[in-house]
Amino acid sequence: MAESGVKIGLEIHVQLTALKSKLFCSCPTDYRGKPPNTNICPVCLGLPGVLPVVNRKAIEYAIMVALALNCKLSNKVVFVRKHYFYPDLPKNYQISQYDGIGSTPLCRDGYLQIRVNGKNKVVRIRRINIEEDPGRLTYPTGDIATSRYSLVDYNRSGIALLEIVTEPDIHTPQEARAFLTKLVSILEHLGITDISLEGAFRVDANISIGGGGRVEVKNIGSIKDVERALSYEILRQRSIVAKGGVVKRETRHWDSSKRITVSLRVKETEEDYRYFPDPDLPPITISDELVKQVMERMPELPDHRIKRFMKQYGLDEYRATVLVMEKWLADLFESVAKLYSNYKRIADLLITDFMRWVNEFRLTPRDVKATPQVLAKLLRLLDQGVISIKIVKEILPEIISKGVDPEDYIKKKRLTRIADEEYLRNIVREIIHKNRKAALDALTNPRAINYLIGMVMKQTRGRADPSITAKLVREELARLKEEK
Ligand SMILES: [Zn+2]
Repeated sequence: MAESGVKIGLEIHVQLTALKSKLFCSCPTDYRGKPPNTNICPVCLGLPGVLPVVNRKAIEYAIMVALALNCKLSNKVVFVRKHYFYPDLPKNYQISQYDGIGSTPLCRDGYLQIRVNGKNKVVRIRRINIEEDPGRLTYPTGDIATSRYSLVDYNRSGIALLEIVTEPDIHTPQEARAFLTKLVSILEHLGITDISLEGAFRVDANISIGGGGRVEVKNIGSIKDVERALSYEILRQRSIVAKGGVVKRETRHWDSSKRITVSLRVKETEEDYRYFPDPDLPPITISDELVKQVMERMPELPDHRIKRFMKQYGLDEYRATVLVMEKWLADLFESVAKLYSNYKRIADLLITDFMRWVNEFRLTPRDVKATPQVLAKLLRLLDQGVISIKIVKEILPEIISKGVDPEDYIKKKRLTRIADEEYLRNIVREIIHKNRKAALDALTNPRAINYLIGMVMKQTRGRADPSITAKLVREELARLKEEK
């Protein structure tokens, strides 16, 4: 779908979930599932007289991302206060970074190369900032529109966030998906975030069409939803233009259950956040030495890993890319590959049926029960001819959702492949007897042979060995011909 005049820029907020403590205090980061307002201290509540202390590890993580996204690093970090009033923000300002008043983004002018429909494309990164997450508002009915009041929970307040902002270089929802998929794969390879955690990954998408007003869609929670929200916005804005209207500049909210965007507020001008340098946080120098240390500790990144998969395991670019774009899947592949050496077969199983069931069951990587050992065993049973590919597909969902052992499963369900010629010959004879017309037809028409083989398969619930069955059907037809 080529979108003429469509301009999309993304603003991605990623929690640094690998950190043990918040950005400016020692409160732990595992706030999820805790009772409201228990994961807090005077610093992240913004009480008077407290002093924030920056989490050094957060700076190192941000440097890693800057290097991975080919950015120019600033040689110092100056934190600023971004003022706005909202109940989830106890200090009435958020500690962030700014371009001006002596502060700069931690890094700027980077890029990420992506591949869409077999073509390379470069998306420029405007800047990356470190900032703190605000608290959360919750609604008794679960919905802002129907609740009579809202509650505030500061457990999340002060969690370290990276804000990654692109230039409006993206032109289609598919390009946005490709960009985000690769970005997330990089962040996960760096080991700094786990986006399957609720709220760890939020995207604001700016979109305009052919010079119309820029619409910002706020707080989209998944890559799939970004693609859906953008597709919806393109249609909505197009239909306004088609009716002779003008798309106005506004902020919209993505309703992921109804799959539509809804207007939040119309913007006339830029908000004035009255930024100023935070006097409680001295500037931090980013020395060449620190950058060098971080560079030495950089793990393998997706582009390199794809090439290595092609070389080490003989995979084609497509299979290698699909695996590496889901880091946990690539990790699982390598664990199975240590136990079982038909690499292409592992890759095929993982990227087709395996992923289909993971998506079908809506599992996060943590919920998947399949171990490398069990997957290797399953494929070995297939190679040894104990089970057919049909049975592999039948057991797979049980392995993924319950972690069942394939050997136990086939014993219990009597699913082993039938290779006993005598047993199969009896079935073949019975089927030829019952389907005499088809059998006579098969003497001259090879297609009718497949029909008979299919009948044997049906009777044995797919357990008959296909090549033995075919051989027996031919033998029995030859005998029928002699009898005639
Ligand atoms: Zn705290």
